[in-house]
Parts: sequence; structure tokens; C-alpha cells
Amino acid sequence: MKIKLGLLYGGKSAEHEVSLLTARAVTQAINFGKFEVYPIFITQTGEWRKGNALIGPAETIEELQFGGGSNRPNNITKFLPVETTNTNIEEKEDNANLDVIFPLLHGPNGEDGTVQGLLEVLNLPYVGNGVLASAAGMDKVVMKQLFAQAGLSQVPYVHFIRKEWKDDQTELIRKMEESLKWPLFVKPANLGSSVGISKVSNRQELIKAVEIAFKYDRKIIVEQGIVAREIEMSVLGNDTPRCSVAGEVLPTKDFYDYEAKYEDGTTNYAIPAVVSPELLKKLEDAAIRAFKVLDCSGLVRADFFVSENEEVIINEVNTMPGFTPISMYPKLWMESGLSYSGLIEELIELAIERYEEKQ
Ligand code: ADP
Ligand code: MG
Ligand code: MG
Repeated sequence: MKIKLGLLYGGKSAEHEVSLLTARAVTQAINFGKFEVYPIFITQTGEWRKGNALIGPAETIEELQFGGGSNRPNNITKFLPVETTNTNIEEKEDNANLDVIFPLLHGPNGEDGTVQGLLEVLNLPYVGNGVLASAAGMDKVVMKQLFAQAGLSQVPYVHFIRKEWKDDQTELIRKMEESLKWPLFVKPANLGSSVGISKVSNRQELIKAVEIAFKYDRKIIVEQGIVAREIEMSVLGNDTPRCSVAGEVLPTKDFYDYEAKYEDGTTNYAIPAVVSPELLKKLEDAAIRAFKVLDCSGLVRADFFVSENEEVIINEVNTMPGFTPISMYPKLWMESGLSYSGLIEELIELAIERYEEKQ
């Protein structure tokens, strides 16, 4: 019997389009001898579509899936799951009892525990992190507070909500200037893919950046900027997680922003990163500690800054990291000897294992 795999993709977040790329790649890599794939698409307005609703004139589908947006990454090609699954959607459409769901969603309403909560209530096994880890990993402030608990080093930061900014902007700016050194990074607390993030070097830029970040979230974090290497670790497993080799991001521009991540090809990567055995050990230890303090399961990509004197400073974890075959998370596993389709299968096994353990 083939495993009935529901692929959940699209979604309401700013990372909708990234999710389409991932869904396309996963669909192409799936072993159809083992899995039967059921695409479930969430539009940008939050409507769920599956089966027949996925089929239609190409223009409709494209519009549906890209929301007619103008800022789509130009390397996205149309994602038609029916093309690659090559099965009779009509026949198998409704109410199949899915065995496991793979949520290929990034950002709010996908990576943040909400969809995970829905899947828990539906009593379905699903790939990746549960409600708690997803929610804690999405909120950069909560995440940092937990990292501090775990004794992980971090950059200094200040955080506030919209109301606090409105009520006393001057006091908040004073606090930032007092406790942080320029340049600063201004970020919406709950997002990813560098959306809404600015690097600022003076008060005027700071105010503008805070206003931009508030477009995405009611909570903001402002961090001290650091000059450091950016090194990432992939972690895989449930109760006994293991680490991949390290990977390094080498942005050639100011920082690793949205365009550098998806569009302009200005970023170089070193896979594996050139690191001493001592540094690798420190990175592994910190990555596993981050995985455990958030009570992660399945996967996490732990991102670090490594300072000149080789201090390992955690930046963040991503509970549903970029997952196309050219993304860091799968690439680090490939470099560690685990293929893309092998990785997908292991994640599905881990999902089922975790589900069964809870029963
Ligand atoms: P996201 O979750 O959107 O990826 P990050 O916190 O990882 O947000 O920030 C995106 C990028 O911005 C990082 O990969 C790094 O290049 C840069 N950056 C973020 N915070 C800092 C910081 N405190 N100092 C230096 N660079 C930073
Ligand atoms: Mg992130
Ligand atoms: Mg990041």
C-alpha cells in the first residue's frame, strides 16, 4: 500500500511564493512507487483548494497561485502539481484518508504553529515541528528568551509593540541608543525570508525602518548589528537529533536580504563551510541545544553568527527552512550523504514515529 501524502503549500504569508517553489521541487522528488501525492493549495487569501479546484485554464491557475502579485521572484515557474503527479485527480479527489501531511509553508499561518494545531485537532501525522516549537520559533523575541535560558550567546537587542512605540517613541529610541551600538537591524518579530528587515545607521533611518516593520507585525525587535560570518546547521531527528555539516552564507552585498535570498544571485555559499573541528563542535553543540530548548521535532535550521574570535552567537532557528533542492537545509544534508528524496522520506518517517509515540 502506498502512503497517502498530503502536500500543503501556498498559504497567506509573505512567503507564499517561496512555498510554491518548494512544493514543485518536493513533488518532483517524491518516489511515486512509495507515495501517492495529494496536493492541497492555500491561496494568498487563505482559501483551500484541492482536487478539481486545482485544475483550470493555465492563466487562472497562475493567477490563483501568484495572486496576480507583481513582486514575484522571477525564477518561479508555474507550479502545476497535476502535471507532475500525473494521476487522475478527479478519481481520487475527495475524502481520501491521508496518512501524513507535509506542510510546505513558511512564515505566519504555516510555520508558526497554527496549521500544526489544525493538524493536531484533525489527528493527522505531519512532518516537522509541533505547535510549541513552531510558535516559539516564529517569534524572534520568544525564541531569544528561550535561547538565553539555554545559555546560548546572542547579540544585544530591544523589543517593543506598536502601542509602546506610539506612546513613547522618544524613550524607546533613547533606550536603543543607550544599550545598542550602530548599525542596528530592525525586524518584525514574526516573519522570515528577511521580509520587513532593515539595517540602519542613524535615528532617521531607524524611525523609517520601525514604520516599515510595523506594516508586518505589531511586535518589533531591534538588534545590534554584528560583523561576523553567517554559518548555518541543519538538524534532523526527533528525540535524538543529529547535525549536518556546516554551511556558510556569503552575501556580497550589505546583508542577506530578500533579493539576495531569492532573486539577484548575489549570494555565494560555502558547502561545507571551512571551519576548524573545534568550531564545528561548538556549532553542533549550540544547534542541538537550540533544537532541544524549543522542543523541536523533525527538522530545524539553526543560523549562527561567528565572530572574528570564533565566538558562536545564535541568530535564529527556522522551523520550516527553505526546502527546495538548492536551499541550504537540504543541501547540507546532501553534502552529509543524504539525498533530497532520502531526506523527504526520513522526515515522513519521523512524522509517523512522533505521531505513533503520542497515541
Ligand atoms: P529572517 O528570519 O527573515 O531570515 P534574520 O534575523 O535571519 O531574519 O535576518 C536576515 C539577515 O539579516 C541575516 O541572515 C543577516 O544577513 C542579517 N542580520 C540580521 N540580524 C543581524 C545582526 N544583528 N547583525 C548582522 N546582520 C544581521
Ligand atoms: Mg528566519
Ligand atoms: Mg534568517
